[in-house]
Amino acid sequence: MRGRWNRNKKETTEAHKSISMSFLKQHGYLSGVQWGGLKWTDGCGEETGSIGFRIWLEGSVGDIRFQYTYTQGHGDHKERLDYPVKLVATPCRYGGKRWWFICPLTKNGIACRRRILKLYLGGEYFGCRHCYELTYQSCQKHDARVDRLCEDPALIRELLKSKDWSQRTLALKALFKRGSLFL
Ligand SMILES: [Zn+2]
Repeated sequence: MRGRWNRNKKETTEAHKSISMSFLKQHGYLSGVQWGGLKWTDGCGEETGSIGFRIWLEGSVGDIRFQYTYTQGHGDHKERLDYPVKLVATPCRYGGKRWWFICPLTKNGIACRRRILKLYLGGEYFGCRHCYELTYQSCQKHDARVDRLCEDPALIRELLKSKDWSQRTLALKALFKRGSLFL
């Protein structure tokens, strides 16, 4: 079966790359065996990353196997990743079923195994927001960094040249917040 590539605008508006069950459902991935892909773009439409995946579902169990290259820091370290995340379905009250991801991360020696509807790429691997400690506060922290950047045009210039998409995004946000593209 041929893979498909989809873009999801909603998932690009957040600080972290993510994939949600509603995205998979919306694009018809929740049946049998399927291959697909997801690309993330920043506010300017520039691609910030992409992943390939293969979904296998049978009855009320299955998995999604992710394949992508993880780049650390400014691109000095690249790693090819290929690993499955378990999926499980629970019956809905009025028929049908709802699929969940099972968080694959281990924290302090304890496997998370939370049933979740959205996986975040908060680091090298996909995991739940609890494991990556993604809360409303982490968004506020991000905003505080943008505020500080607004005061530092030299740093904005430097970050704009960065190979790291998240650094470039920060710099662009600061630019927009300043309301001027001239530094
Ligand atoms: Zn978790």
